[in-house]
Amino acid sequence: MLRRLFLPLLILLLLPVPVAAQKLIALSFDDVPRGRGAFFTPDERSARIIAELKKADAPQAVFFVNPCHIGSGDGVGGEARIAAYVAAGHVIANHSCTHPHLNATAVDAYLADIDKAEAWLKDQPGHRPWFRFPFLDEGGADKAKRDALRAGLAERGLNNGYVTVESSDWHLESLTIEAAKAGKSIDRKALGQLYVSWHVEAADYADGLMQAVVGRQPAQVMLLHETDLAALYIGDLVRALRKAGWTLVSADTAYADPIGALRPDVPSAQGTLTEALAWEKGLPAPRWYRYNDTRLATAEFERQVLHEGGGE
Ligand SMILES: [Zn+2]
Repeated sequence: MLRRLFLPLLILLLLPVPVAAQKLIALSFDDVPRGRGAFFTPDERSARIIAELKKADAPQAVFFVNPCHIGSGDGVGGEARIAAYVAAGHVIANHSCTHPHLNATAVDAYLADIDKAEAWLKDQPGHRPWFRFPFLDEGGADKAKRDALRAGLAERGLNNGYVTVESSDWHLESLTIEAAKAGKSIDRKALGQLYVSWHVEAADYADGLMQAVVGRQPAQVMLLHETDLAALYIGDLVRALRKAGWTLVSADTAYADPIGALRPDVPSAQGTLTEALAWEKGLPAPRWYRYNDTRLATAEFERQVLHEGGGE
């Protein structure tokens, strides 16, 4: 009897411990304070984003700030909105001061712009030493520029606030603003479905690519913007991510992942870290989620949200 039990027990003990599948993801919001959207004043929008995140019991998110946009145009009152995000338990970090394209800016001027933003950010509560490249432009094909920025950030004690998941939410937001300005009727339910399903699909796409490239499931960082779409649908997105097996983690947790120490060397430094790592490893293109193709996204928006183009 004892021997009959012993062998299976021994086999069980010698088997490698299976690693539980884990899909971890943090939320990030860029371009704060961002210009007005289709539906809300900037104050209403911030209040809704905060309330929706809270209602969905979402953990700490990071808001990447452009301090030079505070206080002018739609950025009036921006300081109070940023403070409100922090008071709600979220953190803030550097997205440059004026949102320049690294490709079109000299290294010294670009670093000075980062310093200007950091000078404002450093005394703010909730500040983290992370820098998110505007347009995810890390120098493109100019490797000298890319390396100068890598060195410049390190000198300043700033880490790259990289992105691993994105679905061009800025494009969906601008299509919505255009449609509203043109007086078109917007199917808000369909719009929410696109926003939610595209971001969940983009997360799962990045999960698959990461597993193929690094052989594990690093904590992902989703790129979103401070948009009216977030104000409307961020709670739905959090719930849909969980339904798809994702665990929401804090930005602090995500950026503690060792994947952030990787410095991929690819022909053009731009876009998500996921794409760069896949490119470096020689995975075939496309290495990005399909609805980052804005032409395809526009066609789907017109068909599903504006009910244009016939067929339905
Ligand atoms: Zn930006």
